[in-house]
Amino acid sequence: LAKEQGKNRALRFDVQLARSQQIQREQLARLRLALEQDEFRLHFQPKIDLADGCVVGVEALLRWQHPQLGLQPPLSFLAYLQQSELDHQLGEWVLEQTLCQIERWRAQGLSLVASVNISPDHLLRPDFAASLQALLAAHPQVPAGLLELEILESATVTDLGRAAATVSRCRAWGVKVSLDDFGTGYSSLALLRHLPVDGLKIDQTFVRDLRTDCNDHALVNAVIALGTAFGCEVTAEGVESLDDAAELHRMGCGFAQGYGMARPMPADELEGWLAAWRARPAWPGPAV
Ligand code: C2E
Ligand code: MG
Ligand code: MG
Ligand code: MG
Repeated sequence: LAKEQGKNRALRFDVQLARSQQIQREQLARLRLALEQDEFRLHFQPKIDLADGCVVGVEALLRWQHPQLGLQPPLSFLAYLQQSELDHQLGEWVLEQTLCQIERWRAQGLSLVASVNISPDHLLRPDFAASLQALLAAHPQVPAGLLELEILESATVTDLGRAAATVSRCRAWGVKVSLDDFGTGYSSLALLRHLPVDGLKIDQTFVRDLRTDCNDHALVNAVIALGTAFGCEVTAEGVESLDDAAELHRMGCGFAQGYGMARPMPADELEGWLAAWRARPAWPGPAV
């Protein structure tokens, strides 16, 4: 009987596995079609200098404009791309679109640094740096310093040597590199010794309860001190109120992103938002 049950369980497992592989294949095929049919969009979230409230840059965040389901957030579909050729094709698309957008802003007299999230698989491809170099060469009007790459600690776990070599090549051309979601990995501290970067982005899970949770406050304080000691620009993510922004400024944090200032938005809405933002009362705003 036990043997029979074991066999049944194994069979059930096989069926489940086959089904999830099937779903994975179908999703990937649908995403490939989405790229062909131009259904992906970039939204841009402003990054604010906490000293004066000026907008210094934007982060490009991927969206899928699904014809039936509407606008889909990246975490709903990015996992299906893992280890696929499409992961890097979509990554190249995001880089290309971002460079085109920086070019359009430059033509309007706007100098914004745009940061792009790079998936670990994409960063670790042997041809990543060469492809980026070709993209930059195809956009000679874009100074490399207006492009920033946001990389995840997980990219360095499989092959720190390659990640570090790629990062230092890109930085040598003037491209900026930041560590995203800093503090959420297992070796964030050790990483700073081996991977010179321009910026740290403090993960929003540490920022959310900053003013009520003294442990989070202590952690954020420590990351700001650490980043500063390493000569990094420190950006807090998920800043949902101007009170949080004011507190982060008091703590010595340089920059902030979050719904408290602006949500990610399409490029054509950014212009209007910028005008309204510049017309606001003196920084740090009415809340303080
Ligand atoms: P991330 O790079 O850490 O981006 C920050 C996420 O926090 C974004 O979610 C943003 O919309 C959200 N956010 C910003 N301010 C606030 C706030 O005040 N409160 C809250 N609760 N959330 C805030 P989004 O756009 O859904 O992106 C999620 C993640 O997907 C990103 O995290 C990034 O890791 C990944 N991602 C986004 N675009 C791309 C892309 O083009 N390529 C790759 N490989 N990954 C991407
Ligand atoms: Mg990011
Ligand atoms: Mg992040
Ligand atoms: Mg994140």
